[in-house]
Amino acid sequence: MSEKKDFNLTPGENEQYKPVKADITCAKCGRKDTLTLRACVNVSLHPEEKQQVLDGSFFQYTCPDCGEKMTVVYPLLYDDMAKALMIYLLPDQTEDALSKLNAQQKTWSEDMLKAAKVCTMRAVRSINELAEKIKIADCGLDDRFVELSKAFVFAQFLKQSPGTEVVQVLFERQEEKDGLVIFSKEGKKFWVEFPEGLYDEVVSMFEERVKKESGTEYELIDAGWSMKILSNINKS
Ligand SMILES: [Zn+2]
Repeated sequence: MSEKKDFNLTPGENEQYKPVKADITCAKCGRKDTLTLRACVNVSLHPEEKQQVLDGSFFQYTCPDCGEKMTVVYPLLYDDMAKALMIYLLPDQTEDALSKLNAQQKTWSEDMLKAAKVCTMRAVRSINELAEKIKIADCGLDDRFVELSKAFVFAQFLKQSPGTEVVQVLFERQEEKDGLVIFSKEGKKFWVEFPEGLYDEVVSMFEERVKKESGTEYELIDAGWSMKILSNINKS
């Protein structure tokens, strides 16, 4: 699914979890509408919304006049209390938005900080990345070791397919096999399976280095993060 951005929106500090109003103009017919956007989706309270987030329909707006479908991407907290998983979708200037978000923790109550310590807290840049994180958790895997596994498999892929311009690499489990779906700039899609035992090997290799710290901040665990971990290893 393409993630067309129709507008930018950042909820104010005190209304972070309250719905926000946003104006939208239909890209096809120009009809103006005001949307009420929820700042938080809690799939423990509303399990049906998990599938909507996964298939992207949660972010879809259909123009009541002409039927044009538009994707509305905005800062959203995905909260799965049962899995102790909190993922913040920050589509615009993700790094900046993330530091601001984490800085707000100064105002958190003791109880909120305590809860955060036992949660997996992540930030993502796109709807696809949000879906990927949810799927990784559903597979019972740790996204940090998945990210490191991705780095190995992706490097191998690039060796075998030189010149391929890659725009996105996403973890998937297909027919009980773990692997990567790799999207090229020309719109091609590749499936590369994880070698047998790779994930477990990565866990034992990196367990010590990425030990679960009981931090309370949202973290961006992506290719940039795994590159940092891997370059530190080469240095030591
Ligand atoms: Zn329209």
